[in-house]
Amino acid sequence: MEKLRIAIQKSGRLSEKSLALLKEAGISLNNGSRKLRSVAQSFPLEVIYLRDDDIPQYVEDGVAHIGIVGENEYAEKQCEVDLIERLGYSRCRLSIAVPKSEQYLSLEELDGKRIATSYPVILENYLQEHGVKAQIHVLSGSVELAPSIGMADAIFDIVSSGSTLISNGLKEVEVIMKSEAVVIASRNINKDIQAVLNDLIFRVRSVMTASNNKYILLNAPNENLQQIIDTIPGMKSPTVMPLAEEGWSSVHSVLSETEFWGHIDRLRELGAQGILVIPIEKMIV
Ligand code: ATP
Ligand code: MG
Repeated sequence: MEKLRIAIQKSGRLSEKSLALLKEAGISLNNGSRKLRSVAQSFPLEVIYLRDDDIPQYVEDGVAHIGIVGENEYAEKQCEVDLIERLGYSRCRLSIAVPKSEQYLSLEELDGKRIATSYPVILENYLQEHGVKAQIHVLSGSVELAPSIGMADAIFDIVSSGSTLISNGLKEVEVIMKSEAVVIASRNINKDIQAVLNDLIFRVRSVMTASNNKYILLNAPNENLQQIIDTIPGMKSPTVMPLAEEGWSSVHSVLSETEFWGHIDRLRELGAQGILVIPIEKMIV
């Protein structure tokens, strides 16, 4: 049987989480994850390990059927591939930064300036849209050093916490795109491979849904039971079971973590006790 071939970053910020996601989706690899290629044991899939820059092209060429890359890499390479799923990890943004001492009011101030970046295509498109002409200097790494050594007036680079910018005397002045890990797919996938891909995406979604949700158990005084149920309605409706102690019930429900924190005060006001929040491994809705 033909295998679905997925390209994953060989080593870097996407590798570990991408492999962990496959594992949570029930796909175990005959490891040595640092090899060039590995085959899944219980699922018709094989992984090839590449530099993230190369993944969009390999997928366009059909060498890999799908790949996991940062959305920034997908946008930069402008390859003929489809973005089929957002994965929610490796979140970052691509921003313009200038030396902290510069006063900065608007994008127009970059007209005629030199901007260093590893993402010339995204930058060029953005500047063009806003009618700004700048000289773009392409660097493959250590972009944040360029202003301090006099190579550029500004940079356009990946930012997550902003601490790298600060330690290089820079300040973020424009956010141009937000990025997260995404699945990209070739446009020429045959029916058999598409079926495997659908199965994989189904599993991945179950893992992602589960990680956003928690299983909640609590003890509720019967006089407030209805109000408690209304507060945490859950997937369909909560399970309610009587406790051995009269006048009390156990309520079980499923809630997103943020919803849970939003409701906690209300639940305690209503007399809920012994609240347990339990992680869910897989969730199929
Ligand atoms: P390669 O050797 O494969 O070319 P790289 O050095 O280009 O690796 P990494 O630094 O490993 O790439 O980053 C991979 C992706 O992770 C980036 O394209 C981006 O989408 C995301 N990313 C980068 N930096 C951060 C960060 N600080 N926080 C979160 N995500 C990030
Ligand atoms: Mg790279």
